[in-house]
Amino acid sequence: MNDILLLKPGELFLKGLNKRFFEEKLMNNLRRRLKHVGRYEVSCRQSTFYVEARDDESDLDDALEAAKQVFGFATVTRAAACEKDKDVIAQKAIEYLRDDMRSVSTFKVETKRGDKRFPLTSIELSQYVGGLLAEAYPNARAEMHDPELTVHLEVREMAAYVHAKPQPGAGGMPVGSNGSAVTLLSGGIDSPVSTYLIAKRGVRLVPVHFFSFPYTSELAKEKVISLAKLLEPYTGRMTLQIVPFTHIQEEIRRLCPEEYFTLIMRRFMMRIAEDIAKHNDCKAIVTGENLGQVASQTMEAMASTQSVIDLPVLQPLVGMDKTDIIAHARKIGTFETSILPYEDCCTVFTPRHPKTRPTVAEVAEAESVMDIDGLVQEAIAGIERIKIGYEC
Ligand code: ATP
Ligand code: MG
Repeated sequence: MNDILLLKPGELFLKGLNKRFFEEKLMNNLRRRLKHVGRYEVSCRQSTFYVEARDDESDLDDALEAAKQVFGFATVTRAAACEKDKDVIAQKAIEYLRDDMRSVSTFKVETKRGDKRFPLTSIELSQYVGGLLAEAYPNARAEMHDPELTVHLEVREMAAYVHAKPQPGAGGMPVGSNGSAVTLLSGGIDSPVSTYLIAKRGVRLVPVHFFSFPYTSELAKEKVISLAKLLEPYTGRMTLQIVPFTHIQEEIRRLCPEEYFTLIMRRFMMRIAEDIAKHNDCKAIVTGENLGQVASQTMEAMASTQSVIDLPVLQPLVGMDKTDIIAHARKIGTFETSILPYEDCCTVFTPRHPKTRPTVAEVAEAESVMDIDGLVQEAIAGIERIKIGYEC
């Protein structure tokens, strides 16, 4: 009899009328994520998701680690399986929970009895197993209110299961349950974190990178592809859009006053992102902007950047400290790649004295000499699309 995983979704969003919709998304996202690590059977009963390995090569601990990256689950637990007999269940609990039982002074047993033909009631089984656990571990006594450890028993159709101490899941909402958005993915520290945080709110993402070859090297592009791959366990499969940005930047340099370079460049990014959004059924644009971090992140600069588009701009990092952003980047595993020293297009042609308090009209005036539509269309026509996470 094989161990299994039990996954519990976050409670809040499962209460409403959309329960089935959310459960279906969770099921699909979990199945897709697990395909990357092995062959598993996934099922759902009474809002609990069950994962079983289908063959010996598929390791349940690998599945556990992968499942912890799927948004929408509050907890993930490995459970030991055994025969549906009260003594076998008690013996299993005594062996399987040895380390946990030795380290606590109070515990209780809770039973769920899915198989109604099982001869003991839930309370009887809890008391029976609780008694034997207390005998086996004299350091721990049964305590119904606020025990240090809760031992769970589940008697189901095929087997009985013993588990305790659920691990925290990824939290959030299932990706795809809250629509889609374009995310601007540079090679920096911030935008992988903003992408992660919006995916966590249940949003499917289309990452867009602006690439200024040869001012930025092939390695800068490879870095963004690596970042997208690191994000994919959380976001699910994505199609990364690499937008050729060199001509736009050269035209800005040729035609516009230097102090506006960055602001105008960011307005081009937004226009192109909005066009990609419209073609991919996306309802917002996500950026890693952070108030006051650089010259283009003052409120005036953000107003100028956002005024060229109609879609809302989501900036999940806007009020965070850099140290918190870095802590997030480390936790999700993107930090080490983000700090690789390849230049981003933002650092090409950086003005010596950037305008920090521009008016929208002033920036519009500064860029009015350019063929804006023509340049936007040319960049869109040259987009390279790279599929991330479609291998299985
Ligand atoms: P990051 O660490 O994400 O690069 P940053 O602090 O360096 O952010 P900026 O360079 O001003 O800030 O960029 C702000 C946001 O604009 C980024 O978080 C990202 O969402 C977007 N962005 C910047 N450069 C690019 C790029 N080359 N391609 C795609 N998006 C970009
Ligand atoms: Mg940057």
